[in-house]
Amino acid sequence: MVIVSDPGDEMKPIEVEDKWEPSFMRLSPSKINTYMKCPREFYYKYIAKIPEKKTIHLFRGTLVHAVLEDLFKKQFKSFKAWEDGDPAAWMQDQFETRWAKDIDSKGWLWELHTDEEMAAMRVETEELLQNFVASVDKKLNEMVEWKIYKSKYQAWNCVAPKYAEKWVKSHDYAVIGIVDAVCNDFDGGTTLLDYKTSKRYGPYLPEDYYRQLIVYAFLYTLEMGEMPKFVGVSYLRFDDTFYVKVNQPVLDEAKELIKMVHDCLKERMEVEEKYEQVPQNLCKWCSFHKSNGGPCDAVVPKWKPKGKSYKKSTVKSENVVLSEEEFLAHTEIPEEEGMVKGKVVEEAPIKNTVWDD
Ligand code: SF4
Repeated sequence: MVIVSDPGDEMKPIEVEDKWEPSFMRLSPSKINTYMKCPREFYYKYIAKIPEKKTIHLFRGTLVHAVLEDLFKKQFKSFKAWEDGDPAAWMQDQFETRWAKDIDSKGWLWELHTDEEMAAMRVETEELLQNFVASVDKKLNEMVEWKIYKSKYQAWNCVAPKYAEKWVKSHDYAVIGIVDAVCNDFDGGTTLLDYKTSKRYGPYLPEDYYRQLIVYAFLYTLEMGEMPKFVGVSYLRFDDTFYVKVNQPVLDEAKELIKMVHDCLKERMEVEEKYEQVPQNLCKWCSFHKSNGGPCDAVVPKWKPKGKSYKKSTVKSENVVLSEEEFLAHTEIPEEEGMVKGKVVEEAPIKNTVWDD
């Protein structure tokens, strides 16, 4: 468990400047991050709406989020239900049913991934979900053992989220997001959590995750009239969470970020050439690059190890964050939902809702 940033200060009311107007598009943390990564990718994805290849990572992420939403929202709403029920058996049943329905039914996924990759993803997802149940039990037991709470019943209120899948939005700033879990501590302080199935784990918070978190904090504060104490990324594969302490500068930073992206869109409107290409190593995995069958002719830069001369993060906050480029300096394959190397494969029509944020 890692905490970044300094303790916060008092919240001041968030006011929209009289003259400022959002752009023509409603934003989300995904859209903001895409714009920050590459404006041209944003154009292809959200303005030209060029279809992207959908990969196992996307569907797996959707499946995991749906199961975890139902876990606390429908099946185990109270500690009594958890204690009297069999969460591990319920989880196994959910996993097997949904995997058959949402993954096995899409035969075209096997054209994008090898049998080994698909089999490994199945095992990993099953373990990840069962690990989540085990980690809830572990927390309940240890909180009583270590005398933090007198009973598991009391500990439950701290472990189980108050809301699962909380939609947060602002009409004035034209942004929307979905917070995976809203938890309360024993002081009544609120923590927002975002579950990640990704392997992008290390002793830092990737810059795009940081942006997503502060936007959630901003939207939650606007909608609920209460500033959360923390907002965090929970890495389900690694059973670890990174927290950002929320304070007024963090909320201001989120507001400025949202306004900046809206202002850029207002300036560029729907003109492709105005959306800059940002050639980077990630182009190799971009669905829109010509090597993957897309329209973008960006020249992928040659790989250069950065050694000790890492570019300083442009994020204003003192939080410890790492840019995508810096992340790539430490890993070979950027596994993220929707990223895969190779040609675009014509996909079958998709009926279910997929995870966007
Ligand atoms: S290939 Fe690179 S430059 Fe082109 S849209 Fe994708 S990320 Fe941007």
